[in-house]
Amino acid sequence: MLISHLHLQNYRNYQEVELDFSPSINIFLGENAQGKTNLLESLYVLALTKSHRTNNEKELIYFKEKEARLTCEVVKQTGKVPLEIRFTPKGRRGKVNHIEQKKLSQYIGKLNVILFAPEDLELVKGTPSVRRKFLDMEISQVSPIYLYDLVQYQRLLKQRNQYLKQTAFEKRTLDELYLDILDEQLAEYGEKILQVRREFVQKLEKFASVLHANISNQKEKLHLEYHSTIKEDSDYLSQLKNARKKDVKHFSTSVGIHRDDLLFFVNELDVASFGSQGQQRTTALSVKLAEIDLMYDETGEYPLLLLDDVMSELDNERQLHLLEAIQGKAQTFITTTTLKHLENLDVVAQIFEIEQGAV
Ligand code: ATP
Ligand code: MG
Repeated sequence: MLISHLHLQNYRNYQEVELDFSPSINIFLGENAQGKTNLLESLYVLALTKSHRTNNEKELIYFKEKEARLTCEVVKQTGKVPLEIRFTPKGRRGKVNHIEQKKLSQYIGKLNVILFAPEDLELVKGTPSVRRKFLDMEISQVSPIYLYDLVQYQRLLKQRNQYLKQTAFEKRTLDELYLDILDEQLAEYGEKILQVRREFVQKLEKFASVLHANISNQKEKLHLEYHSTIKEDSDYLSQLKNARKKDVKHFSTSVGIHRDDLLFFVNELDVASFGSQGQQRTTALSVKLAEIDLMYDETGEYPLLLLDDVMSELDNERQLHLLEAIQGKAQTFITTTTLKHLENLDVVAQIFEIEQGAV
């Protein structure tokens, strides 16, 4: 898929901008703090309805304005799809084909993107929550059902934790029956999410391990493991119930997909703990690159690739692997302060010069 046209109004430092993109490579070139990442971010927002940089929607609206509007035209094999996202004082709204969507979960998935950023290393080195978010974002883009289940799960989890806290603070007796009902619902959604995540990780490993072997000149073998707080030998609901006593004491839910993690092993050693910087970087890059093929596999279309300042972060060897992986496949957007690292590009790229919110 690709984006042919973008229109931003009062978005970040862009009051009004309209752009037509190349179907292959687009480069956003400019000095620091001019709006390169803002522009890239707008594409991410059009795909996922929120920013990868902030949860505060106000930051996305041009200073002192009340509303921001982002529209684009997505071109797919099946036809053109106009998308619109608006940030208003009442929250965010999305339109597909000019029709307002009741739920944003119905909007997500129309445009698929993969973002490469210097923070990708956090995927390996960061906390489990970074990896859970990664899984959730990627799977949600290709599966609206997954996103729906996840929203339900999070709502029920919040309800359970709040109930545990409230009864503890008000020193009330616990309504076990009420907790039984909550647990049943939580287990129902949790089980589904767990299964989809396990399958996704298996597929991801299939693609990532090949890439990792190539980047490391066949010296390293990458293995991915989904690590769940729910053991496979017994059912989800009974494990949740078994944890209740402990959960009541700590007024929080100790088992479930919100506590799970994704582990990376290189030559059988945990990369986060034992890997060198280089091994950690190769792992993060392989996993991100694997998503390109994985999304193609799931949807029959390549996602947009958004590269925020990544070239300067990678050594020559990894730069070449990244460039090789992106050339000719997917529509790509690259932010950079210099064209130095992009001389090896073998295709014609369109360059957009950015200065203080103007292109
Ligand atoms: P770098 O090369 O340092 O990464 P960049 O070109 O990617 O720079 P951006 O992050 O895209 O820079 O833009 C930063 C600029 O956008 C800042 O100068 C900031 O003041 C401005 N900015 C951010 N949010 C808003 C907003 N809501 N309204 C107006 N300006 C904003
Ligand atoms: Mg930037």
